[in-house]
Amino acid sequence: MKDLEDQLSSMKQKAMDALPGSSWMPMQINSALPPERADVVIVGGGVVGWSVAYWLKMKQRSREEVKVVVVEKDPTYSQASTVLSAGGIRQQFSLAENILLSLHSAQFLKNINEHLGVLNEEPVDLQFNHSGYLFLASDEAAHVMEENYALQRRAGAKVTLLSPAQLRQRFPWIRTDDVALASYGLENEGWFDPWTLLNAFKRKAISLGVVSCSGEVTGFQYNTNHMWTPDGEKVKLHRVTTVKVQMPNSLEYQPVECAVVVNAAGASSGKLAAMVAPEDTAGTVPVEPRKRYVYVVHCPDGPGLDTPFLIDYSGVYFRREGLGGNYIAGTSPLEGEEPDTADLEVDHQFFQDRVWPSLAHRVPAFERLKVTGAWAGFYDYNTLDQNGIVGVHPLVTNMYVASGFSGHGLQQAPAVGRAVAELMLQGGYQTIDLSELGFRRIVRQEPVLERNIV
Ligand SMILES: Cc1cc2nc3c(=O)[nH]c(=O)nc-3n(C[C@H](O)[C@H](O)[C@H](O)COP(=O)(O)OP(=O)(O)OC[C@H]3O[C@@H](n4cnc5c(N)ncnc54)[C@H](O)[C@@H]3O)c2cc1C
Repeated sequence: MKDLEDQLSSMKQKAMDALPGSSWMPMQINSALPPERADVVIVGGGVVGWSVAYWLKMKQRSREEVKVVVVEKDPTYSQASTVLSAGGIRQQFSLAENILLSLHSAQFLKNINEHLGVLNEEPVDLQFNHSGYLFLASDEAAHVMEENYALQRRAGAKVTLLSPAQLRQRFPWIRTDDVALASYGLENEGWFDPWTLLNAFKRKAISLGVVSCSGEVTGFQYNTNHMWTPDGEKVKLHRVTTVKVQMPNSLEYQPVECAVVVNAAGASSGKLAAMVAPEDTAGTVPVEPRKRYVYVVHCPDGPGLDTPFLIDYSGVYFRREGLGGNYIAGTSPLEGEEPDTADLEVDHQFFQDRVWPSLAHRVPAFERLKVTGAWAGFYDYNTLDQNGIVGVHPLVTNMYVASGFSGHGLQQAPAVGRAVAELMLQGGYQTIDLSELGFRRIVRQEPVLERNIV
C-alpha cells in the first residue's frame, strides 16, 4: 500500500512538473467505488468523455437532475490520444460539419474561463498559440483547395488563398516551385495544451457534481429484444442495464446500474461496443487504434516565430514547438504500412524515410535539423471514413457513441460534448446538426468523406 501511495505521489509530481504555470492538480486519482446507480455512465475520461459530462450538467434542468459518472481506466492517461496529440485546431476542412464543429469549439476556447472557470480556482490558461494552418496544394489538387475554401468561407471561417508569389512574400523560407496554391487560416486556428483542456473540463464537471471513477469497464449486462424491420428482417436490439467496472488492484467488478451509457473510449471504442452482444457483427463500431509518431526537431536557423501549422501536400506536417528553435513534425503512414499497435514505441527510421525528405524539400533549412525527441499516440481511427461517429448506436439503443475522430478529435471535443448532451437531453441537435456523422452511414457503409485528413 505504501509503495502504491509513493508511486501515485511520484506520478502526480511528474504530471505537475510537466505543466509549467499550472498550479492545480492535473489528475485526480480516485479509487473510491463508483455509485451503484447512475443516470449516465460515460466510459472514457479523455477530452471527449469529460466534455460530454460537462455539457450534461450544463444542460440539465436542475442541479440534481442527471447523475453522471465518468469511468477512466488509466488515471495517468499514459496512452490517451488527448494528451499525446499535437494540440491543433483549424477550420480548414472540406466537410461542413467538421468546419462548424471547429468554429464552435474555437469560440468555446476563446471564452474558456467563462465556460470552465471555477470559483476560487486558478483561471484556465490553454497556452493558445494563435497561428494559422497553411495547407499547400499541388497543381492537380488546386481546384479541390478552391472548393474547400469556398465552403469554409460560406461556413464563416476566416481563410484566405495565396498564390505561390504571395506565399513566397508571406513566408520567404518556403520552397514554392512545386506549389500551385495555398490556403491560410486568418483566425481561430493554432494549437494549445491538450492536458490543460482535458483537466479544465474535468475540474469543472466535478465541480458541477459529476463523479469521477478510476476503473476499467470490462463488460455490460444487457437485455435483448427482437424487432421486425419493414422488410421482414428480424433484428436483435440490446439495452444496457449495468456497467461492470473493474476496480484497480481488484479482481471483482463493481456493477453500476444505469439508464444510458456513453462510449467515449477513444481508440478502444470499437472494442468497448463489441462487449455488448459480441457475436452480433452488425453493430460494429468501426474504430480502432492507429499509431502515429510525432518527432521533435531542433533547427536554430529554421523558419522561427512566424511558423504556421504547415500541412504539405505530401501529407507531412510541422509546427513550431515553443520558442527555442524547436518544431514538431509527422505524417500518417500509407495504408499498407500501418505500424503494430501493441505498444507506443517510436520508429525512428520512419522519420528518416517518410518525414525528413519532405521537410527538407519544403524548407531547405530543415536539411540541418536534429531530432531531439519523439512520441507516439493512437488515433481513434474510424476505418470507414476517418470522421467522428456521433449518435445513438443502432442496435444498443441506450449507448451513445462519440469517437472515431481520427486526427481531429481534440479540437472537436467542446462542440461534440454539447451535441451529445443536446441529443440525449433535448431529443435532437439544437446547434450543429450532426446527423451526417451518425450511424446511418456506418450501417449503409457509405463513407462521409473529409478531403483534408491529416
Ligand atoms: C499523434 C496525434 C496527434 C493528434 N493531433 C491532433 C490535433 O492536432 N488536433 C486534434 O483535434 N486532434 C488531434 N489528435 C486526435 C485527438 O487526440 C483525438 O481524436 C482525441 O483526443 C480523442 O479524445 P477521446 O477522449 O475520445 O480519446 P482519449 O483521449 O484516448 O480518451 C479515451 C479514454 O478512454 C479510456 N478507456 C478506454 N477503454 C476504457 C474502458 N474499457 N474503461 C474505462 N476507460 C477506458 C482510455 O484510457 C482513455 O483515457 C491527435 C492524435 C494523435 C494520436
